[in-house]
Amino acid sequence: MAIEQQRKLVTSIPGPKSQALHKNRLEQVGHGVGTTLPVYIDSAHGAILVDVDGNQLIDMGSGIGVTTIGHTNEAVVQAVSEQVAKLTHTLFTVTPYLPYVEVCEILNRHMPGKFVKRSALFNSGAEAVENAIKLARKYTNRNEIAVFDHAYHGRTNLTMAMNFKNMPYADGFGPFAGSVTHVPMSYPFHDPAGMTGEEAATRAINYMEKRIGAKNLAAVVIEPIQGEGGFIVPAPGFLKTLSVWTKANGIVLVADEVQAGMARTGKWFASEHEEGFEPDLMTIAKGIAGGMPISAVTGRAEIMDSSHPGGIGGTFGGNPVAAAAALAVLKQIEAGGVLEKAVQIESVLKPRLLAMQERFPVIGEVRGRGAMLAIEFVQPGTREPNAAVTDAIMKFCHQNGVVVLNAGTYGNVIRFLPSLAISDDLLNEAMDVLEAGLGTL
Ligand SMILES: *Cc1c(COP(=O)(O)O)cnc(C)c1O
Repeated sequence: MAIEQQRKLVTSIPGPKSQALHKNRLEQVGHGVGTTLPVYIDSAHGAILVDVDGNQLIDMGSGIGVTTIGHTNEAVVQAVSEQVAKLTHTLFTVTPYLPYVEVCEILNRHMPGKFVKRSALFNSGAEAVENAIKLARKYTNRNEIAVFDHAYHGRTNLTMAMNFKNMPYADGFGPFAGSVTHVPMSYPFHDPAGMTGEEAATRAINYMEKRIGAKNLAAVVIEPIQGEGGFIVPAPGFLKTLSVWTKANGIVLVADEVQAGMARTGKWFASEHEEGFEPDLMTIAKGIAGGMPISAVTGRAEIMDSSHPGGIGGTFGGNPVAAAAALAVLKQIEAGGVLEKAVQIESVLKPRLLAMQERFPVIGEVRGRGAMLAIEFVQPGTREPNAAVTDAIMKFCHQNGVVVLNAGTYGNVIRFLPSLAISDDLLNEAMDVLEAGLGTL
């Protein structure tokens, strides 16, 4: 599709057509479904969204890290078009089809760890997390699950219990699943000064031993870089120390790679950035299929095989069209150049963000890896959260045609998850807008 890769504003944001559509939406769609920016998107390509008023926005969020390969990526469009005309559904557990198996094969090939792997496919990230826990419980014959402060794992009943934040994910939606305990995360910006990753892991491990008991734990679930929590990168050594402990205690270590995985950080999986961190299972979704809904659990064969046949599945899981889209994405990553693009994006964005941090004392920290970067806003001179400034900057960016997303337990983080198809020029333009916004404070 011919959409010029440039920002272009022809109305105010949101434009009149978007405003009219939004009015109707509020009459038609349940209000529990939120809206970050009520601009109605008609088409998209690469890193540019085109709205119904004809505005072209720079997409620095990729629908929360989903269109990593770029909007309407040619190979994805072709694969989906061909597949949809050929076969859309049988239910894999009734009569199987090839794309499902091929997706599993590629995921098994790239999951880190020297052991035999298998995969199973689902529809959403939350569903993948649920299934990872089912398998971990079945395999270990234990019940308890440990998750981390600031974690996010989804919106189903079990995953609601695994999230850290009450609002908006849990408030009033209980009762929640039991046997889930939150333990302290490594959060270098807020941990005691000088706390190492090993020390932060020891703090978490001590907590789990006292509060839960290692022998009762089926799984420890961790995002190797926390997503909704605000792109929190644990201190070096944290993940490895945790990994050594789970292994020694027969606990299944689940890396929730839903947001950080799939080339986003410059490697297939964010887990690969820390040597010695060896998850047993990984949950994969968001960026895997260019926007088509599909997710996976990949991991140790003996854990994946621990369920009796029929225990794992679902009607739409690994749907042929979504699987064809995933294959188109996975093959491009395998072909090379995609991971490098994430590193290139970091090399453009990070220096710009660090320079802004120098200029604007409301920026407390710049962090993240690859094309998964964030800034945390503080009250100048402190580490106290500053949600008001975050909201003001978000609004400025939106009004100027740059789609950014927030994050963080205290709503004081802006995260950047551009498509890996984005040009350096667009990245710099988005940074110019952000900088201009900071200048208005
Ligand atoms: C988004 C997300 C999920 C949930 O994925 P859905 O597809 O929305 O169910 C789970 N874990 C992490 C880390 C996520 O970012």
